[in-house]
Amino acid sequence: MKLRWTLGVLTTLCWLSLKTTRAQNDSLSYGAYARLNKDTLASDVFHGRGYVKDGHKMASYHIATEFYKLGLKTLFPAPGFYQSFTMSANVFPEVPVLAFDEDFLVPGRDFHPAPDCPPIHGTFDLIWIDSLSLSNDKAWKKLVKQDLSKSFLVMDVGSIKSKELQNAANNLRKNVFGAAGFIEPKSKLTWSVSQAPGKTPVIEVADSLIQRRYKQVRLRIQSVQMSDFNTVNVVGYVPGKSVRDTFIVVTGHFDHLGRLGNRIMYPGANDNASGIGHMLALAKYFSQPENQPEYSIAFIAFGGEEAGLLGSLHYVRNPVIPLKRTRFLLNIDIMGSAEGITVVNATKHPEITGILEQINTQDQRIGRIRRRGPAANSDHYFFSEMGVPAFFIYTEGKVKAYHDIYDRAEHVPMEKADDLHWLFVDFIKTLESPEWNPYLKQR
Ligand SMILES: [Zn+2]
Repeated sequence: MKLRWTLGVLTTLCWLSLKTTRAQNDSLSYGAYARLNKDTLASDVFHGRGYVKDGHKMASYHIATEFYKLGLKTLFPAPGFYQSFTMSANVFPEVPVLAFDEDFLVPGRDFHPAPDCPPIHGTFDLIWIDSLSLSNDKAWKKLVKQDLSKSFLVMDVGSIKSKELQNAANNLRKNVFGAAGFIEPKSKLTWSVSQAPGKTPVIEVADSLIQRRYKQVRLRIQSVQMSDFNTVNVVGYVPGKSVRDTFIVVTGHFDHLGRLGNRIMYPGANDNASGIGHMLALAKYFSQPENQPEYSIAFIAFGGEEAGLLGSLHYVRNPVIPLKRTRFLLNIDIMGSAEGITVVNATKHPEITGILEQINTQDQRIGRIRRRGPAANSDHYFFSEMGVPAFFIYTEGKVKAYHDIYDRAEHVPMEKADDLHWLFVDFIKTLESPEWNPYLKQR
């Protein structure tokens, strides 16, 4: 079993190495190289870069292999580019089954267990919860008096405007009345990763597919908590020409949601195979001898982001490059659209945002740059909190798939990948200029 797995990994890596080596020999543009890596990382063999079938490990091998081929230097002694850390995750190793009466729904497309759903198996009565059951005294009393332990509550409360009734629904969700579980109708299914199982099973279902006429739900959901397993951040760098011990750092997370059972996959092409593609393209550019940067540039692909920014938290607590020596951090996540970009922390660093806007206007790269304030929504966050000047940049536009089975490589064209690449290159080069020393050294 183990040998087969190892052979599988080796064959895949050889195939991928050949594929990308050939690509480099074909002298692809940097944008095309970013796209190729997006396609590769979002393909089936990486299992959605989660924890069923070790997709996260495959993705980290691929990135480390690219770092090696590009000639990046490592900041660690052997075995190279990896900073390991442990994490836990609630995972679903088997395909979940759900049927309302005799109607079976398709997992991933029609429903998913909430990320923290504990295992549940059996047939349960359905009780419909709407504004009437929450507001009518008689209905409420009847509801809370009955034994709910063999029932799932269908929370048809999304359209309720009253704050009071929404509070009542939220109190019901705390499950003091001991329901077997909850069905949450959703207009869009958005999945995630939880570090641990919760107490109560919650199933999210496409709202168009749950009907009042249904009497029962049949469920077979297997979930397992994987505790304290190893995953990694992948870290490499290009030494600077004039300043070696101070770094500009480019980051992005390589993990995604993985698989729901062994068949359904969340490919995460936009989130964040696209960002890793761009990060590798920047590594490729700056690792060419003629493009050697003035300051050292480090590239960090973080693990564990989707489970709560775990890789970047570990890094900030155990920095490989002292945080004071991190001149600026550029985190890229969700690079698939082309219409514009949003800069998180723009309002915190208006001068630096100004130069990015200036470069963009001058070279006419992308449509618009939107300024946004600080937000704890990606791996830049803990660095910002520790005083490292940092941007988180994401793209906006046509690609709407997010944390779902549709975030596939073919839906994420990255048609502005070359423009974005050169915008980032020129931005990083500008940050190397001594005129920014007083600003970037003031911490
Ligand atoms: Zn992401």
